This record gives sequence, structure tokens and C-alpha cells, in this order.
Amino acid sequence: MLTDGKGFWNSKSLAEMTPQEWESLCDGCGRCCLHKLEDADSGLLFYTNVACRLLDEQRCRCTNYPERMHIVQDCLHLSADDDDQFHWLPLSCAYRKLANGQPLEWWHPLISGDPETVHQAGISVRGRIVSETDVPREQLEDHVINWIDF
Ligand code: SF4
Ligand code: SF4
Repeated sequence: MLTDGKGFWNSKSLAEMTPQEWESLCDGCGRCCLHKLEDADSGLLFYTNVACRLLDEQRCRCTNYPERMHIVQDCLHLSADDDDQFHWLPLSCAYRKLANGQPLEWWHPLISGDPETVHQAGISVRGRIVSETDVPREQLEDHVINWIDF
């Protein structure tokens, strides 16, 4: 557990992190793996509770992370030098928080030392989603949710 402000996420910028540090920032919430809808006129974004077919609904982790970009075309590839992508992320996301100069929350596994706290705090999507394999694309609008701030 590191709560003394000395974690690498406090001392390095996103661009300075090693690949391993970068990956460890992901809290495992699964929120970014939900389908989103964008209003063509207003540009407004809406999250749905419909998850990518590769998302493990219990662990809230990708089941094929190394190959994901080949399998799911619109999977979001995040990098420190492409912060245009960050507006798609929920406000709870560690990448977005650090990019905004905010600290990680108590439930982040890097702070708590426990990967379960993101679920216990109600941040993860565990128990609240359906797979895209069970929802026809034309019914996505029926699955818009309001429990994710972004
Ligand atoms: S929203 Fe951020 S912290 Fe959550 S799973 Fe996606 S990348 Fe990881
Ligand atoms: S491919 Fe994996 S990381 Fe990408 S959206 Fe799907 S579950 Fe998430």
C-alpha cells in the first residue's frame, strides 16, 4: 500500500511512465469497455450498460488484452501523447484523473493494495452490465445509463 505520496503516479508524468507502470494505472473498472453513443447533432456522449464481448463481466478485465486491437476495431488505444482520447473516459479513470492533475482515489488498487476495492466501492461495472452478444445494435439506445460521470 502506498498512500504517502511517493508512488510513481505522483512523481512521474503519464509520458514518463514505463509500460508496466502505465498498465498498472488501469483500476479494472471496465467502464471504458461499455458501448457509447454520440448524438450526431449535439456531439453529446451517452454511456450504455452494454459491454464489449471481450469483457469478463466478473473480473471487469479484457479476456484477450494482447490481441484486442485486432479483434475489436473500436477498442480504445490510450497513450500519453494522445490525450484527445481521454474525453471518452469516465471521470473516475486513473488516466483521466492524472491527466487532470487529480489524485487517485482510495479504492484504486495502487492505493488500497487490493484489486477488489474498485468493485467494493461501486466503481466497477460488475453486476451492472449485459454483453453486446445479447443486445442487437439497434437497441443500444434502450441501454443508456446515467451512473457514469464523464
Ligand atoms: S476506465 Fe480507465 S481505469 Fe477503468 S478500465 Fe478503462 S482504462 Fe482502466
Ligand atoms: S477489446 Fe478488451 S479492452 Fe477493448 S473494449 Fe473490448 S474488453 Fe475492453
